[in-house]
Amino acid sequence: MEKTTSYQLLDGKTISASIRKDIAAEVEQLRSESKRAPHLCAILVGNDGASETYVASKIRNCKEVGFESSLVRYPESVTETELLEKIREINSDTSIDGLLVQLPLPKHIDVQLVTETIRPEKDVDGFHPLNQGRMVQNLPCYLPATPYGILLMLEHAGLSTSGKHCVVVGRSNIVGLPMSILMARNSEPGNCTVTLCHSRTTDLSSITRTADILIAAIGKPEYIKANMVKEGAVVIDVGIIRIEDASTKSGYRLTGDVDFKEVATKCSHISPVPGGVGLMTIAGLLKNTLRAAKGEVRF
Ligand code: NDP
Repeated sequence: MEKTTSYQLLDGKTISASIRKDIAAEVEQLRSESKRAPHLCAILVGNDGASETYVASKIRNCKEVGFESSLVRYPESVTETELLEKIREINSDTSIDGLLVQLPLPKHIDVQLVTETIRPEKDVDGFHPLNQGRMVQNLPCYLPATPYGILLMLEHAGLSTSGKHCVVVGRSNIVGLPMSILMARNSEPGNCTVTLCHSRTTDLSSITRTADILIAAIGKPEYIKANMVKEGAVVIDVGIIRIEDASTKSGYRLTGDVDFKEVATKCSHISPVPGGVGLMTIAGLLKNTLRAAKGEVRF
């Protein structure tokens, strides 16, 4: 007899909308106390299509919740010195609470230097080593926006994580590695037994098949297939990849690291791409910016 599994969608659209509503109410509250609205500044270098889309979406979301926002644009040819000077200027601008530099940056710019030049108090992307170090020790900090968004997604979906085996595939400093640390922390969401996999992992499928919670952050289109997933698992797809598709107006479509059609038949919960973690990342960013404006994180 054919098996019919019904899965629940981890719907980033609905969850992030409810978070934005709460943030907007807090902004109203600040205004009613005659305080200014939180202010996020984004720096965009070059004109990469995906980066343009992400930054536009962040600015749009700021407007929606009542934040101030500003966008500083530079051509691809901007020098590292010029960019660092601008970051230092924004660091000391008391009217700006949060600053992000959209990645990737051109090859002639040292990303690590840029990340470390942003004042940790304004680092609402949560990439600065001070924030990441404090995250490891479970101290007040800005969590990296994507892993933070995933925690919010799990929380809003009412999924308990304690005691579960969480497998994270991908170990980047901005997604996979911090995600693995957060899922292992003594908190909820958290308290998982965590396995962190990467490109040198041997027999990846045998590990992913043991995951109660599988988080894929690889950057390889539809890499995770149904035979790599345990029956009833929670599957979170972080990947966002543009693939050519002549049938669309833009000539491309977005897909994730998970083969959604195959995997959805097997799991209990799954996040879609688009409409999943991408929107939650922005929710995490907005929450960090609000905390920055309220001076909630002290170093
Ligand atoms: P990186 O390229 O920095 O890291 C990819 C990771 O995947 C690496 O650790 C790499 O291993 C690992 N990997 C690559 N191939 C395999 C494989 N075959 N098996 C196991 N592991 C593998 O990417 P990011 O972490 O920055 O991003 C990952 C994806 O998430 C991308 O598609 C990106 O666009 C997306 N993304 C989405 C966001 C969102 O808001 N939804 C935010 C940020 C990223 P190794 O370390 O050994 O090289």
